[in-house]
Amino acid sequence: HRMVPLLNQLGVETCWDVIKGGQRFFEVTKKFHNVLHGQAAPVTLDDFEEFLETSRANAAELAFTGDILVVHDPQPIALVHRKRRQDRRWIWRCHIDVSNPNERVWRFLRRFIDRYDASIFSAPSFARRLPIRQFLVSPSIDPLSDKNRELEPAIIDSVLQRLQIPRDRPLITQVSRFDRLKDPLGVIDAFLLVRKSFQCRLVLAGGGASDDPEGASVLADVRAKAQGRDDIHVLDLPPGSDIEINALQRSSTIIVQKSVKEGFGLTVAEALWKARPVVASAVGGIPLQVIHRHGGLLCHSVEGAALAIKQLLANPAYARGLGENGREHVRQHFLLTRHLKEYLLLFLALDHAEEIVALG
Ligand code: UDP
Repeated sequence: HRMVPLLNQLGVETCWDVIKGGQRFFEVTKKFHNVLHGQAAPVTLDDFEEFLETSRANAAELAFTGDILVVHDPQPIALVHRKRRQDRRWIWRCHIDVSNPNERVWRFLRRFIDRYDASIFSAPSFARRLPIRQFLVSPSIDPLSDKNRELEPAIIDSVLQRLQIPRDRPLITQVSRFDRLKDPLGVIDAFLLVRKSFQCRLVLAGGGASDDPEGASVLADVRAKAQGRDDIHVLDLPPGSDIEINALQRSSTIIVQKSVKEGFGLTVAEALWKARPVVASAVGGIPLQVIHRHGGLLCHSVEGAALAIKQLLANPAYARGLGENGREHVRQHFLLTRHLKEYLLLFLALDHAEEIVALG
């Protein structure tokens, strides 16, 4: 919803379609997501059949127009069955880390991937050996969106008041879907270690995604662990809470992203853009965004996260410097304008590889 209007304004007629699925399909796609990230879970023939059946239903409903189709992630990957015209280009845009996938699911996906004309990955370490061309394009944030634009202090105050977060102590915040791969329970463990020596509050802000059937049970576990503590604030935000997330990020002393596995991790770019000091796991696309000890601190464990948070709480000037460097890094590499330029170059490269190479 940020890239499409810009492309249209530049004269590249663009639209975005969304596939539909039922509960069972989303259970299967979430399982695929987890096992592609290395988790162990039994994948059955029924799962594959459900995936194909929903893909067929969507393929029958969608209007495949345009000269270039960009299909995002594993969920709609099988739509490529509808590839007919030789002059239409199909690109598979992979947002997740498939460097160490469940082999069975990966083999299943490969049947589709191989039919695309090209693929896009977010980070070099995510890419796999494939028979099709691969491009490297990082995701981006839009600095003018509600999620990222500057906010008046009065708006920030009113949001925090409405969410009942007192601002009497430093706020340590993680914004993420309630998903085990985001390790919200580990964030609480790290916070409890920090609390032994610092007065502060923890905010865990997230919400459900309509295609994530596990969210409710993770949220219940988080609530149970936080029960009885008035310094841990668990927020189940409704969809579209962009201003709320913006205000929470801007009012936080430190932003944490303690994922166990991660795609790119847009919440990190969002936090850095607001010049917040970030403590984040060195997984997925996070090390592309956080340059350790320059634009944030990377960690590898609960204890490591706690140590980094304590270091920043004890050294506000150091924390401020990291935040400012982080913002500059995002300005140079992870804004929408860079993303747009790379998409346009990629579209050209599909048919003009030699000229693009010549352009250098
Ligand atoms: N987000 C949101 N509401 C929530 C939780 C997350 O709008 O309750 C946003 C967050 O600000 C970010 C995106 O969803 O823009 C999550 O992207 P990320 O790459 O961090 O993680 P993903 O959820 O895609 O694994």
